[in-house]
Amino acid sequence: MFYKKILYILLALYLSNCSSKTQKNITSNLLDFNKNSTDTNSTQKKEMNKTPKTQEEWKAKLTPEEYYVLREKGTERPFSGEFENHHEKGIYVCKGCGTELFRSETKFDAHCGWPSFYEGIDKSNIKEIVDRSHGMIRTEVTCAKCGGHLGHVFNDGPIDKTGLRYCINSISIGFVSKE
Ligand code: FE
Repeated sequence: MFYKKILYILLALYLSNCSSKTQKNITSNLLDFNKNSTDTNSTQKKEMNKTPKTQEEWKAKLTPEEYYVLREKGTERPFSGEFENHHEKGIYVCKGCGTELFRSETKFDAHCGWPSFYEGIDKSNIKEIVDRSHGMIRTEVTCAKCGGHLGHVFNDGPIDKTGLRYCINSISIGFVSKE
């Protein structure tokens, strides 16, 4: 009888040890999974924001319409873009490389057919170039990081703000919601 009791106690101790080992393994597997999943997410993010270098890489990354506007300085048809009438809170980023360009707070309705902003997030993210095409002298706006064509900036913006109107092609930008 005494030996039987000892045997039961030993068996109970053995089983409880096994179960805690299994729990430890499950927890460690879960931690590994989460770590791998975070690694995959950041790898995917890096891949998305990777800036192409050659014409072929740009063509592989962008749709033909995006390529035409961003890389060949095209213009989308007025009132056709997805952000012309868009009022969510967030950040507008370069479609080519993910650089942050405009805050939703600086977007205003210019009734011109393209999304318009009175100010960029950071001057160093936007490059301005004199554009003498089509018999006009305008100021072209490009992404400072990847050189993608965004649109033009004019001096007819809201006078109580900067007085500027960054007239941007919807197709050149993406949107990151902050709501
Ligand atoms: Fe860019």
